[in-house]
Amino acid sequence: MAGAPIYKRVLLKASGEALMGNQGFGIDVSVADRIAADIAEARSLGVEVGVVIGGGNIFRGVAVASKGGDRVTGDHMGMLATVINSLALRTSLVKMGVDTVVLSAIAMPEICESFSQRQATGYMDQGKVVIFAGGTGNPFFTTDSAAALRAAEVGADALFKGTQVDGIYSADPKIHADAERYERLTHKEVLDQGLAVMDTTAVALARENNIPIIVYSIHEEGGFADILQGKGRCTTVSD
Ligand code: UDP
Repeated sequence: MAGAPIYKRVLLKASGEALMGNQGFGIDVSVADRIAADIAEARSLGVEVGVVIGGGNIFRGVAVASKGGDRVTGDHMGMLATVINSLALRTSLVKMGVDTVVLSAIAMPEICESFSQRQATGYMDQGKVVIFAGGTGNPFFTTDSAAALRAAEVGADALFKGTQVDGIYSADPKIHADAERYERLTHKEVLDQGLAVMDTTAVALARENNIPIIVYSIHEEGGFADILQGKGRCTTVSD
């Protein structure tokens, strides 16, 4: 029997690359379906789930700026990329019968509803999965920061960061075989040691709002539900 979840409401952040699978670009629908299945499992435990998905599989604003382009326009393109990914994930969730809504930080009423804190909270109270598209709606930010911001706005009990590996390591475990995985860290330790888990703005925002960050592998099937039940491998960042 499934254990009772340790969090009631969570915000899941997945990078755009997570949707890419083994392709070099874009969306692998089978990967979107797998991530959606993990979210569906969390819903079946009664956990309220908000999602922020990045856009790096399609576009990064900094890439434009580094080639002498206009950073703000590049960031606008990056935020639009997150809308594409959000629609893909909604499609996968709806296919599985999960009631899902996309709320965008940038108004595009023909495509999805616009974000408001009240609407988002209301939908989550009703048990709908809410996908927050368009990042923060502002250039010079990232979807990590958007995830921490939305987590604070909807009163999430934890911010889940789905990554390529199963937690925060002392060094890149793909390069250093002897890298140590941390079980627990404080927000301050992550900031002071410059551990590359989420950007500084996101970690600082989570810290100020007492939101634990759970770093786990997005590729571990069922891993999300396991951690929600107090099992599974992850690093917990909390003060
Ligand atoms: N972006 C932005 N403001 C935001 C969120 C994202 O300008 O609030 C842009 C930025 O250009 C970024 C791109 O969208 O490079 C994709 O987001 P991110 O790099 O966070 O995606 P991920 O790495 O998670 O796939």
